[in-house]
Amino acid sequence: MLSHGGAEANNLNVVFLPFCITSHTIPMIDMARIFAMHGVNITILTTAGNVGIFQKCIERDISHGRCIKIHLLEFPAKQVGLPIGLEIVNANTPPPTALKIFEGCELLRPQIENYLFDKLEVDCIVSDMFYPWTVETAAKLGVPRFVFCPASIFSRCAELSFIQHTAHTEVKSDFEKVMIIGLPHKLEIARLQLPLWLKEPTEFGSIMKLVDDSTRRSYGAVFNSFYDMEGAYEEHYKNVFGTKCWSIGPVSFWANQDLSDKAERGDEKVEEGDVLLQWLNSKKENSVIYVSFGSINKFLTSQLIEIAHALEASTHDFIWVVRKNNDVGVSEGEQGFMEEFEKRVKESGKGYLIWGWAPQLLILENKAIGGIVTHCGWNTTIESMNVGLPMVTWPLFAEQFFHEKLVVEVLKIGVSIGVRKWRDWNEFGSEVVKREDIGKAIGLVMGNGKEAKEMRSRAQALSEDSKKAILVGGSSHAKLIQIIEELHSLKLQRLNGGI
Ligand code: UDP
Repeated sequence: MLSHGGAEANNLNVVFLPFCITSHTIPMIDMARIFAMHGVNITILTTAGNVGIFQKCIERDISHGRCIKIHLLEFPAKQVGLPIGLEIVNANTPPPTALKIFEGCELLRPQIENYLFDKLEVDCIVSDMFYPWTVETAAKLGVPRFVFCPASIFSRCAELSFIQHTAHTEVKSDFEKVMIIGLPHKLEIARLQLPLWLKEPTEFGSIMKLVDDSTRRSYGAVFNSFYDMEGAYEEHYKNVFGTKCWSIGPVSFWANQDLSDKAERGDEKVEEGDVLLQWLNSKKENSVIYVSFGSINKFLTSQLIEIAHALEASTHDFIWVVRKNNDVGVSEGEQGFMEEFEKRVKESGKGYLIWGWAPQLLILENKAIGGIVTHCGWNTTIESMNVGLPMVTWPLFAEQFFHEKLVVEVLKIGVSIGVRKWRDWNEFGSEVVKREDIGKAIGLVMGNGKEAKEMRSRAQALSEDSKKAILVGGSSHAKLIQIIEELHSLKLQRLNGGI
């Protein structure tokens, strides 16, 4: 039984501060909604340009009696030289615009603090990692600050390992593997697969230093994870970061139980679900591979063509979420390729291309889906685990290579496609994964070989664990209740002049 009780948290006011990147906002909003399900009064601080990706589900929650308020901040568009409404970073945001959006978010601080100090009774701030200054805001208010990072606990521990032990400086070549020192598992990673900011001074590295400092000074961290999967890393995190740490996921499954929540999650322009579901429902169980690279990635046309060939040659049907790309230097032969390809696979019924925003939760839970090709963004990774899908891992940027390690080597529920080199989120990189390698990895994961069967059964067991975690008595549920009780007792102490 799922708990939707409201008695646990009378009069507790928690403020959520999501960051202006789609995949940061989505899980944080799910988390806020879970707190609201358990009787906490929630205020979400955001801007008008961001609210569209979650407004409908919040309206539905409010109609179910949950106490959620959205307070709109005024994005300083003029100050950073942006047109009105460009306030969130997604696949269509050019890198210079993204930088201006980040700058605009930084300028929100006085507005946020004024609102928190003057207008609201606050008992806790749950802040995206990219608002490190909220640790000071919370201190001024005398309330705890929880940091939210939309990645795995594993990846945060791995990053800290390289910062503390600098193992990457011990090898001579970028292709050599280095030990991720101090983790609960013995793991190695090629230096070329490490984020640049961990290897040399970069602007992002300076931001991450602030993030890490504020993380250590936070009351605790909340992750979209669950103890059966990452428990060892939750304990390790507490030791290395020296704060509390709670896994309270999978948040997507917990928060989005209504069909409409699943269908409309994440973007205003979601692909029409009816035709897609009809297509999926016509397919046999476990016969379709879902191919998606998250909310922000774009590939060069040459890479799209390799993927297309691999999918067309595969014995399995597919859904592919493709991001339109206007890259320069496309040859004559490449022009028009995707249109022709789509026409062919549509006519034969082999494939379904989504050129915009996919209703991912609905797709993943459909019985026809037998596996996923993923870039190892954490949200997609945990959403796939939740439904027991084995994965073809194709990491690209951010902490995705660490997630690949977790999926392939620790949990053993995926096959690596063999990407060799990390690149930044706003670059295409020079590496093109060949159709043969793509086809081979898909064949392995979707096939009936011993390895595939074992992987599928491990993925299924993990799915069951993840579903149990959010039930009454499950680990994520218990931790949420623990957080709420702790916030209550901190509030009492505060009211009694204790802190
Ligand atoms: N997502 C979606 N439809 C899409 C693309 C992404 O619903 O077409 C959702 C997906 O379910 C996940 C998030 O957007 O919750 C993407 O986050 P992830 O961490 O996987 O990747 P990122 O976008 O950070 O690369």
